[in-house]
Amino acid sequence: MKLIPVVLIFLTLPEVLVERAFFVMGTIIEFKLYCENKESCDKAILDVYSEVKRLDGIFSNYKNDSVLSRVNSYAGKGRISVPDEFIELTRLAIFFSGLTGGAFDITVGRAMEIWSASRETNSMPNTKDMVRAKDCMGFGKIKIYPEEKQIELNSSCVSLDFGGIGKGYALDRAVGILRKHGIKRGIVNFGGNIYAMKPPPGEDGWNVGIRHPRDETQVLTLLRVEDTAVSTSGDYERYFEVNGRRFSHIINPRDGFPVEAVPSVTVIAKDGTGADALSTALTVMRNDRAIQFLDQLKDVGAMIVTEENGRLSIYKNPFFSGLEATETVN
Ligand code: AMP
Ligand code: MG
Repeated sequence: MKLIPVVLIFLTLPEVLVERAFFVMGTIIEFKLYCENKESCDKAILDVYSEVKRLDGIFSNYKNDSVLSRVNSYAGKGRISVPDEFIELTRLAIFFSGLTGGAFDITVGRAMEIWSASRETNSMPNTKDMVRAKDCMGFGKIKIYPEEKQIELNSSCVSLDFGGIGKGYALDRAVGILRKHGIKRGIVNFGGNIYAMKPPPGEDGWNVGIRHPRDETQVLTLLRVEDTAVSTSGDYERYFEVNGRRFSHIINPRDGFPVEAVPSVTVIAKDGTGADALSTALTVMRNDRAIQFLDQLKDVGAMIVTEENGRLSIYKNPFFSGLEATETVN
C-alpha cells in the first residue's frame, strides 16, 4: 500500500523543456523537446547529431567523398555497392516517382547543375545543353539490386540528387532516435521539414505557422498538429534567378526547366519522407494536376500557393483545412 503514493509522484514528475539547434546538411535543425531532465534531452540530441552527420556523409552532393558522389561518378560504368540507407532511400524516391507520375524524380541532378551554372552566368542555358539534360533524366535509368546492395545508373550523364527527400528522411531518423530515448513530446524543424510529436503537457497540439512566401514577417496560416510531419517547399530561400526571372530550385522532369510561379507548397503527412517528397512533387504538378492527385490520397494535407501577375492564389485540400488552428493569424 505504501508504494502507491511513490509511484504517483514518479508519474507526475514535471518534464523540462529543452531547446537546441545545430547546423548540419547545409541547414539548421531545431529541437523543442520535453524530457525528464536536461541531460537526457542533450544525450538524445547528440545521438541525432551523429546520425544526421552520418547520413550527410552518404547523401551529400557537396561532399566529394560522399556515397552519392561516388555513385554519380560511377554512372554508366556498371553496378556499385552502396550502404543499406542508399538502397532504402532510392527505393522510396522511386516509389514517389511512380506515385506522382514522374513529378518527383531524383535524376534531376544534371538539370540542377545546368541551372546553377546558368545562374552564375546570368544567361539562359543553351538548347543543346537542355536537350542533353533531358536525356539524362528519368527514374527508369536507375537500377537497384537489393540482394547485392548495389545500384546502377545506366548512362554516364545520369546524376542523382536527394535534395527533395533527404531532409525528410533524416527527420524521420531523428524522431526515431528521440523516441528510442523515451522522448514523446517535442517538435523538430529541419530546414522547413517539421515533425510534431506529442504536444506540450496540457496542450492539444503544436502550433506550426506557415510563412507567407513573399513576406517573411507574415504567417499565411497556423496549423495545430501532433504526431505528424509538415514540409514546405518554397521558391524564396533557394532559387535560380536568370535575367531577372525567378525560377524555383525545383525542376520539372518533363522538360528539365525549373518551375515558375509556385511560391510555396506545404504538405502534411504521416512521416517526414513522404511530406518532403510530396511538397517537391506538388510544386511540379501545380494545381492542374495536383488537385486531382490529392483527391486520391488519404491522410495527406496540402496547401498550394500559386502566383499570377504578382497576385497569390491559395488552394487547400479539406484534410489541410481540417488541421488549421481556429484562431487566425495575419
Ligand atoms: P524541396 O525544398 O524539398 O522541395 O527540395 C528541392 C530540391 O530537390 C532541389 O534543390 C533539388 O535538389 C531537388 N529537386 C529538384 N527538382 C526535383 C524533382 N522534380 N524531384 C525530386 N527532387 C528534385
Ligand atoms: Mg521536398
